[in-house]
Amino acid sequence: MSPYNFAAGPSSLPAPVLEAARAGFENWDGSGQSVMEIPFTGSEYESIHDNAVEALTRILKIPDGYRVLFMQGGAYGQFSILPMNLLRGADRADYVVTGHWSRRAAQEALKYCSVNIVADGENSNYLKIPDRHLWSLNCEAAYCHITTNETANGVQFHTLPDTGDVPLVADVTSDFLTAPLDISRLGAIYASAQKNIGIAGLTLVVVRESLLGDAMPITPSVFDYSRLATCKSKVNTPPVWAIYIAGLMFRWIESEGGLEEMSRRNANKAEILYEMIGNSDYYSCNVERQDRSLVNVCFALPSPVLEMKFLESARASGFLNLEGHSAAGGVRASLYNAVSEAAVVALTAFMDDFQRLESRVS
Ligand SMILES: *Cc1c(COP(=O)(O)O)cnc(C)c1O
Repeated sequence: MSPYNFAAGPSSLPAPVLEAARAGFENWDGSGQSVMEIPFTGSEYESIHDNAVEALTRILKIPDGYRVLFMQGGAYGQFSILPMNLLRGADRADYVVTGHWSRRAAQEALKYCSVNIVADGENSNYLKIPDRHLWSLNCEAAYCHITTNETANGVQFHTLPDTGDVPLVADVTSDFLTAPLDISRLGAIYASAQKNIGIAGLTLVVVRESLLGDAMPITPSVFDYSRLATCKSKVNTPPVWAIYIAGLMFRWIESEGGLEEMSRRNANKAEILYEMIGNSDYYSCNVERQDRSLVNVCFALPSPVLEMKFLESARASGFLNLEGHSAAGGVRASLYNAVSEAAVVALTAFMDDFQRLESRVS
């Protein structure tokens, strides 16, 4: 049996994407060159860039008035780059803290402005999204930042909050393209590529044009959204290979039926796993039902010792990278687009067997 990869990122890629990448690796489009060898200033790269942006625009239904930027520095880089670009002269921003990554985003933003913590899920141990009627939004904030899916904690916004006239911005790294997303409700989104759109080295930004043009003077040119928007993200050498892979991913999603189909599949996979956990008195998921992530399923066993044993046994049986995030512990199965229903069904069968064997031992 070939192994099943449940990694949180870098993560599994669809077999057809790897297959297509192999061609681009050796002889791209009959050019006799590898994608890795072509200059970024030429027409070959231009077509790779344009194809990727066009495919993303189709599958995400990006409306007019938005720009797609290809950057580097990861989502972590955007924790700084976004405030530098979007404060637009204001001195404060709103942050909703729902777990590990949004907390990091808020901490980093403190270097650039005063940060209003709209709500913090700390007293629920980040096992739920704080109730919206308890949020304290600030109408003078330059933007309101959320993390749509907390990769480490396994909580997810299933609907976008209403922030009135304050632009909503989101770190969508771990649930990007796993379901439709109404871009018109957002001022900006950003995502590292290695979770759902390919490989590490690329960060994708989609930003509303009307928010551009007022970056802080200290903003490095290579991280200035407006500059990137006017030169097709070519202020300096773009991560050509990573953009090529992202383009292949976008077209794979399109050929599989688009984001509605991804959403259907992902909901189904999550349902299979959560149901198995819910029906067991051995495995447990403490995340509140209505906020459970459809892409990062976090769960526990009766003890840390059993968790270690489970992870070891899973690895030996071909179920890879199920370790929980270092900040959260436990077990985590990441069910991104490339993870098949068959992988999830096989995992639940393994979990069943493990539990039965352990009950017999003890
Ligand atoms: C993985 C992740 C990050 C960090 O991504 P890097 O590419 O390592 O900077 C940030 N936010 C979320 C939600 C993530 O899942």
